[in-house]
Amino acid sequence: MDVLIIGTVGYDNVQTPFGKRERALGGSASYASVAASFFAKPSMVAIVGEDFEEKHKQLFLSKQISLHGLKQVPGKTFAWGGKYEFDMNEAKTEFTDLNTLLQFDAHVPEQYRNAKYVFLANTDPVLQLKVIEQLKNPEFIVLDTMNFWIQTKKEDLLKVISKVDVLLLNDGEARMLFNTVNLLQAAQQALKLGPKYVIIKKGEHGALLFSDGKHFSAPGYPLEVIKDPTGCGDCFAGGFIGYLAKHNKVDEPSLRRAIVYGSVIASFNAEDFSLDRMTRLDSSEIEKRFLEMKDIREF
Ligand code: AMP
Repeated sequence: MDVLIIGTVGYDNVQTPFGKRERALGGSASYASVAASFFAKPSMVAIVGEDFEEKHKQLFLSKQISLHGLKQVPGKTFAWGGKYEFDMNEAKTEFTDLNTLLQFDAHVPEQYRNAKYVFLANTDPVLQLKVIEQLKNPEFIVLDTMNFWIQTKKEDLLKVISKVDVLLLNDGEARMLFNTVNLLQAAQQALKLGPKYVIIKKGEHGALLFSDGKHFSAPGYPLEVIKDPTGCGDCFAGGFIGYLAKHNKVDEPSLRRAIVYGSVIASFNAEDFSLDRMTRLDSSEIEKRFLEMKDIREF
């Protein structure tokens, strides 16, 4: 089963206590697509500028990611700079240069409009809405967002939330969007807007799944090596939706397993900068860590 992914493809300047990278390949759609590619065939809808390097296109193609929706236009590619202190759960954004994202029309190529599984990765909620409007019969739409859009386009974001099946947020964003310190209350408010499920990511501490009257808690993987958490949220989401698309099932047991697969993929991503670990990752490593995760929560 294919997964349609819309989001950003960009160049990141990242600094963590373990090193620094400039103009490293990043962006929400980049991470999510590579993560989903371990389970399903992703199709990407995004925009880049003329400075986007051919080797990065080749990297996506080597992961069987379909690029008919990756538009290249004159101008500069989206760029983001972030810094992590020793608490690596949250990046401090140093700059966000939207660049060519400002002229993106989020056109979904005809051959992608029948997609059943759709991930609206972090990008302008106006673009996320445009994508939904072009879809013919989506079965399962997952939405991610972040503080930048909560602060600048909250009304549009609330509209998108009402049209999706799953809302993904990290804990800080959930508190910011719903103006409460209590995550359970934030999740309940989110469910009232329309989604069937809300997933609150808690960085290295795992993720919580909320649905009407029920919840599930997945642990984080205790990593020995952690260099750069950039893109972990997107890798989590890509792994999550990729797993569901592969099995073409969205009942609660499948969602729980998908969350654990998402956490496994995200844990690998944090082991190196940019997409470096993701490009070296293979399926046997994913399965091995999935079993370790099962063992961690057995009691
Ligand atoms: P994550 O660490 O999973 O939250 O996502 C990190 C990625 O999000 C980086 O590679 C950035 O390029 C990208 N990013 C940062 N700010 C934004 C934004 N406002 N909209 C979309 N993508 C962003």
